[in-house]
Amino acid sequence: MIAEVPTQLFIGGKWRGADDEATIEVIDPSTAKPLTSVSSASPEDGTAAVHAAQEALRAWRRTAPRVRANLLRAAFELMMERQEWFALLISAENGKALPDARAEVAYAAEFFRWYSEEAVRLDGSLHVAPTGDYRIIVQREPIGVAVLVTPWNYPAAMATRKIGPALAAGCTVILKPASDTPLTALALAALLAEIGIPAGVVNVLPSHRSGAVVGTLLSNPAVRKVSFTGSTEVGVKLLHLAADRVLSSSMELGGNAPFIVLADADIQSAVAGAMVAKMRNGGEACTAANRFYVHDAVADEFSQTFASAMNSLRVGPGYEEGVAVGPLVNEAARKKVHALVDDAVRRGADVLVGGDIPHREGYYYPPTVLDHVSPEAELMHDEIFGPVAPIVRFTDVEEATAAANRTDYGLVSYVYTADLAAGMRVAEALESGMVGLNRGVVSDPSAPFGGVKLSGLGREGGHEGMLEYTEAKYIATSW
Ligand code: NAP
Ligand code: MG
Repeated sequence: MIAEVPTQLFIGGKWRGADDEATIEVIDPSTAKPLTSVSSASPEDGTAAVHAAQEALRAWRRTAPRVRANLLRAAFELMMERQEWFALLISAENGKALPDARAEVAYAAEFFRWYSEEAVRLDGSLHVAPTGDYRIIVQREPIGVAVLVTPWNYPAAMATRKIGPALAAGCTVILKPASDTPLTALALAALLAEIGIPAGVVNVLPSHRSGAVVGTLLSNPAVRKVSFTGSTEVGVKLLHLAADRVLSSSMELGGNAPFIVLADADIQSAVAGAMVAKMRNGGEACTAANRFYVHDAVADEFSQTFASAMNSLRVGPGYEEGVAVGPLVNEAARKKVHALVDDAVRRGADVLVGGDIPHREGYYYPPTVLDHVSPEAELMHDEIFGPVAPIVRFTDVEEATAAANRTDYGLVSYVYTADLAAGMRVAEALESGMVGLNRGVVSDPSAPFGGVKLSGLGREGGHEGMLEYTEAKYIATSW
């Protein structure tokens, strides 16, 4: 399967090596052994990709919406036909367990289907000026060449969530995937070429020189948009670069999601929700529940049921059938997770399950539940990005909500309660772009995904996701 994946840069519809022949080694996190290597773009390759995207833009922006819709629909169909193949590939380079990888492929493909449907629904408006003497026509135009930078945790979905709306809107793109997971992005480029996306509309440039290459892309006057998903730290750097050229910017950054369980919550369903909110993607998700605030009255029952569910998950190579939790993506990620657990334990947390690095090849970390965690513990403030659940007990809902909001992040929050009105009150008081109310998953291609505060700018998915790739043109008209 790995042998079928292209390993070169995809620029202007052609596969080619980096101009200085640099490469990136791709590692299998389940074994810590190399899988293959891929070309690593230089800044000059970046400039070549901008030229290709700029060239392709002229025709693509004028392509009939129905034609763009049909192509995106074909991409959805072919990706789902190859769901298992893509799932194995994602699992091989990222480490995630097959059920998560299969779910990612379906989620990723759905962005192509949703935006195939949106491509023909881009409307504008017309109204009479208040003075009554002319018409105000507003129409939406594609913004132009877009630079897309994606992380390793959802190598397919974070790419399609940007490519889908960009292409639907009539933009052309240059995708810079994460260096840990370039293969899925290259396989997607091959799929898009196969279904007939014209040369230059989608260009893919893996590069370990991400700062230099993305810097070159964003300083090119032909580029009009940057859409980034990744850490807040890098997002801030890109916003500084974008400021120099007044670039439209969409930023999906880090999270620190609270998961609040009220005293009247159904504990079975709260634990089921906690399992997905925490363990979807092995905890390597920006939406992962990072802090559990549980009412004292139900905290013992919740933490014991949760710990035993976490303990029952099988850890192993992601692509092995029956495995629920694969390895973390690399050694640095594992070190960070373990250091956060150590810190919490030093500050008095009880380890209900997990907490030790296993002795085996690969970057494994066990599902871990910590109870009675100090609010001062670092993992209450830092994104864990691993299978670790810290529990804090509370007695007053307003205090718990205030504690949940005591963070610079604001991507998603979760609330469990049997009282819908109480749940709505908490949901409205939470400072986050999204809330899961009696649900452990919020991600949906048809809904606006995104954060407030340091979690980002703009929305992906839904109708909003496509507007990010358009500019409103206002034509004042007398007739
Ligand atoms: P990252 O280090 O910020 O990397 C993300 C992407 O940016 C990668 O392609 C990376 O390339 C590139 N990059 C790194 N430094 C750069 C620079 N100086 N200039 C330009 N590009 C640069 O994040 P990550 O570790 O891959 O991903 C984890 C983070 O992503 C978490 O914080 C998570 O919350 C966030 N995330 C957010 C969402 C969301 O929608 N809000 C979704 C998923 C993940 P290299 O790989 O080559 O370094
Ligand atoms: Mg890897």
